[in-house]
Amino acid sequence: MSRRPFTDLHQDRYAVRTAGMTASEIRALFAVASRPEVVSLAGGMPNLAALPLKTLSAQAAQIIAEDGLTALQYASAHGLPLLREQICEVMALEDIAAHPDDVVLTVGSQMGLDLVTRLFCDPGDVVVAEGPSYVGALGSFAAYQAQVVHVAMDEHGLVPEGLRAALRQAVNDGRRVKLLYTIPNFHNPAGVTLAVERRAEILEICRTYDVLVVEDNPYGLLGFDGRAYPALRSLDPDNVVYLGSFSKTFASGLRVGWVLAPRAVREKLVLAMESATLCAPTLNQMIVSRYLATHDWQGQIEMFRENYRERRDAMLSALERYLPPGCTWTKPDGGFYVWVTVPRGVDTKAMLPRAVDARVAYASGSGFFTDKSGSRQMRLSYCYPAPERIREGVRRLAAVLECELDPARSFGGVGSGRTP
Ligand code: PMP
Repeated sequence: MSRRPFTDLHQDRYAVRTAGMTASEIRALFAVASRPEVVSLAGGMPNLAALPLKTLSAQAAQIIAEDGLTALQYASAHGLPLLREQICEVMALEDIAAHPDDVVLTVGSQMGLDLVTRLFCDPGDVVVAEGPSYVGALGSFAAYQAQVVHVAMDEHGLVPEGLRAALRQAVNDGRRVKLLYTIPNFHNPAGVTLAVERRAEILEICRTYDVLVVEDNPYGLLGFDGRAYPALRSLDPDNVVYLGSFSKTFASGLRVGWVLAPRAVREKLVLAMESATLCAPTLNQMIVSRYLATHDWQGQIEMFRENYRERRDAMLSALERYLPPGCTWTKPDGGFYVWVTVPRGVDTKAMLPRAVDARVAYASGSGFFTDKSGSRQMRLSYCYPAPERIREGVRRLAAVLECELDPARSFGGVGSGRTP
């Protein structure tokens, strides 16, 4: 049966804000990257293999058996009180002294991002963010028609002088900057961490320019030396909204995250949560709460860290061994990602189909910017594949890069299946 070309009958009906809603390059990649013969260094899925599934299933069953009429019922938009207390204990590891009343449970920190943007950004408002930045955050900013201004990072994270210059420029242009969106620890996608010495300076700059800081910190407890950095929120509680998540330290599919907000903001956040989804799933909140109460969750995070450290080591040594001269990359001390810069003349987005042909996938750099930078960059995730798959993936990627740099070389060796 022939298929008629797709025309969207609703085209004239969409709200103006939907113009900024486009599928991320990463989503478009998922279908190909999940083919078993492709080594995917593209996605950022946590590796959950170390979770105690038997214990968790017994606990979930017990919660429903003993407390099912609460677990399967609506909860408050604010979140379960016990879990909010436990979250304060989690955040204490990063020097945050918080009151449980100031924590609002969300459906993953992605929802926290959406709600905070909804509360603060009118169309045309500026959000300053690191360049590159997390794709999901860029999606939220686009959905509320905020304009992103990127500020460069170096190996110590966001550069304070660059932030100051961007804010000065915005003032001169008469633009209103509402938020600094920052991922201080083990950045997605850049893999770098904001130096402790820079933290107070960045907060001071934001105060001077009257800009609220949104600190997105899903990876903070995944530092490979076991050390946690002081959260920005711990240094300036009144001007930082902190986003937390159990996705990387426990189970992403439960979709349990939180926002720690200054008290005045918290009231509005609860109202926004209510209108968006009434409440975060009660059962999932209870599962997380029971897990924190009964399990050695810090020991579990230690296991995750070990697992990711082994994969990080495999990736860094493979990059060193295989990538052609002229490539550079960041060296993460935690988290999931390495950010690679390739030599001039290579466009990572254009190269991607050839890489997939060669059975390796990555996330091309341009998806992490709103200003179309990033054509010479790519994000490689080491979180999910086994170390030997990571090594093989990097080897395939290196062969594709060699061909891009010297098109006279034959491609067959990588793409035709002759490689082991
Ligand atoms: N922020 C960052 C920096 C992320 O990398 C992610 C997930 N990849 C999120 C937020 C969203 O996480 P979740 O909604 O699962 O808590």
